[in-house]
Amino acid sequence: HAKQQHRGRWVAFDRDMAVRSRHQAELLTRLNAAFNENQLFVVYQPQIELASGRLVGMEALVRWRREDGQLIPPDTFIPVAERSGLIDALGEWVLQTACHDLLRLLRMGLDPGRVAVNVSVIQFGGATFADRVLATLERLGLPPQRLELEITESVAMLGEDVVQSVLARLRAAGLSVAIDDFGTGYSSLAYLERLPLDCLKIDRAFVRRLQQGDEARVAELITQLGHKLGLRVLAEGVEDDAVRQRLLALGCHEGQGFGIARPMAFEPLQAWLEARARTAPAGAAT
Ligand code: C2E
Ligand code: MG
Ligand code: MG
Ligand code: MG
Repeated sequence: HAKQQHRGRWVAFDRDMAVRSRHQAELLTRLNAAFNENQLFVVYQPQIELASGRLVGMEALVRWRREDGQLIPPDTFIPVAERSGLIDALGEWVLQTACHDLLRLLRMGLDPGRVAVNVSVIQFGGATFADRVLATLERLGLPPQRLELEITESVAMLGEDVVQSVLARLRAAGLSVAIDDFGTGYSSLAYLERLPLDCLKIDRAFVRRLQQGDEARVAELITQLGHKLGLRVLAEGVEDDAVRQRLLALGCHEGQGFGIARPMAFEPLQAWLEARARTAPAGAAT
């Protein structure tokens, strides 16, 4: 009887797997079509210096709105794009759109600082990645100092020589590089210490604990680690002013989150920047 039950479980498991992979295949087909039919767009979330409220940048986040109006979150479709190879084209499109939108804002006299673009490990590991990023900046005439790339600890799965040389090339050109979702991956501290980086982003999971009034230990440790390594520290998921104050007390330099501003499409972002320029002259605290 026990054996039969055991076999029954495996049959159910196989069926789940089959359903899941069919679902993934359908998702990929729809994603490919959406990408070709311009149903993807990019939103921007402001990043500020916590002490002064000064705007330092904005993170580009990709969105997919289906024809029926439903928004599919990137956590659902980015992994599908990564498994299919579509991530190269998709990621490059996000990068170009983000750089182009930043240039448009600068030409309007609105200065959001830098733009931060998420880079998948698959994209980052491609042989021509650095060339393509630098060519895009060159073609648009955007100073490399205006671009930050967000990579994750998962780059540890690539050869360390590759990662080192790509980072060195990008940073020599003037770009900055952040480690995103820090503390949630599997890389070793020894590995990270050897990488030439500019910024450590504290994952929302650790920032959320500050909000709940819990111990701030992990956020504090990451901030101190950033200080020791000479990096900027940026917290994501700053949902209210109490959290912002606690982060500031920990020595965290920068933050982004719903309590500061939600991710916005280009036009609302433009309006947000214009309103800000009217009410808070350059450099003033919010
Ligand atoms: P991420 O890079 O860690 O981005 C931060 C996520 O936190 C964003 O979710 C943002 O909307 C959300 N967020 C920001 N502030 C708050 C807050 O105060 N509270 C809460 N609850 N959430 C907040 P989003 O846009 O859904 O993106 C999810 C993930 O998808 C990103 O995490 C990133 O890993 C990935 N992603 C998004 N766009 C791209 C892209 O263009 N390329 C790649 N490779 N990955 C992307
Ligand atoms: Mg990010
Ligand atoms: Mg993040
Ligand atoms: Mg995150």
